[in-house]
Amino acid sequence: MNDSLNPFKIAQQQLDGAADKLGLDSATHELLRWPMRELKVILPVKMDDGITKIFHAFRVAYNTSRGPAKGGIRWHPDETIDTVRALAAWMTWKTAVVDIPLGGGKGGIICNPKELSESEKERLARAYIRAIAKTLGVAQDVPAPDVYTTPQIMAWMMDEYETIVGEKHPGVITGKPLPLGGSPGRADATARGGVYILREAAKVHGINLHGETMAIQGFGNAGQFAATIGEELLGLKLIAASDSKGGVYNLKGIDAKKIVDYKLQNGSLKGFPDADEITNEELLELEVTVLIPAALENVITEENANNLRCKFSCELANGPTTPAADDILYNNGIIVLPDFLANAGGVTVSYFEQVQNTYNFFWTLDEVQRRLDEKMTLAFKGVYEMQQREKVDMRRAAYFVAVSRVAEACKLRGWV
Ligand code: GLU
Repeated sequence: MNDSLNPFKIAQQQLDGAADKLGLDSATHELLRWPMRELKVILPVKMDDGITKIFHAFRVAYNTSRGPAKGGIRWHPDETIDTVRALAAWMTWKTAVVDIPLGGGKGGIICNPKELSESEKERLARAYIRAIAKTLGVAQDVPAPDVYTTPQIMAWMMDEYETIVGEKHPGVITGKPLPLGGSPGRADATARGGVYILREAAKVHGINLHGETMAIQGFGNAGQFAATIGEELLGLKLIAASDSKGGVYNLKGIDAKKIVDYKLQNGSLKGFPDADEITNEELLELEVTVLIPAALENVITEENANNLRCKFSCELANGPTTPAADDILYNNGIIVLPDFLANAGGVTVSYFEQVQNTYNFFWTLDEVQRRLDEKMTLAFKGVYEMQQREKVDMRRAAYFVAVSRVAEACKLRGWV
């Protein structure tokens, strides 16, 4: 992988900029540049045909100064230790920017979930937990869903963990199905949190989003809910959406609910009626008010940044924009709502899920959404104030807020 697209190099480069500006001492800076713990495991898993396949997997606890490591598990054919390190670093800044008492972590299994049967997925999920169980726990490291992992996978993982320790610990993993201690409102929390951030950003910029256009790149969990919640809460009009197989667009507008149902029924957007085909690359360059990158890293680079024609880029994906592209977007007046702020709704409701698991008492959906709104709005205000004061882009401002919180926790613990 070319260094300028290596997510971990990018995460370190972003941190270096913040460390410089905040005047971090060299020990703190060096501490924050690296994961505090990383695990590489090999998982032998029996496939349905009786043949054992060997999977490579990772779990990284990046920084735990503010609390137990927290972050999802990705199942992806292109997973590497560096993508997991970067995602774990971003989780550290994410939990800090929304000010919840958790650190940052991430896990990954190199696999193609589209080629696995349900029973193979279950065996893979259980094998992963057996391999890393000693480093998990409500007070140590708490996984959750991420790209291509689901509440069902979280259920198998929790069951495996509880079987190993011989006790019930629902809070060991979040994003569980509701009957197993999941939280109301967790499923759409990433998108909902992003829509709250967008609402606040539009407010301070004096823009009414009602009837304005949005395009969504990536139509998994976050992208689908962004379509319906963006329409419902802000009156945004969806004009384009894409997934890994391509996309569709219609300048007159696409019914959000209809396209989500179509994707759920057909597994892709191909053939969606009343819309023309569009590629992922073309979608990013559409003239829209709100662009929502909701897929993977590095889709907005110095190659295409100058072609973007949105007003806001609301990053529901982790790491969709490279640092070089960030500078171009900033100079072109595009407002980037950075990933670890815009997509922090997921981990925020994961935190609420853990709190409810500890209480063994559950909140209503209204209460979860009200508290999520409160957290996201407060986080936006903190970052926006920093941005106004320092005259930098929103990502840098978010880094200043998050890194100074984590650095303070490290100092208070006497680590540096
Ligand atoms: N995978 C999600 C993220 O990147 C959620 C993590 C969590 O809930 O712990 O923020």
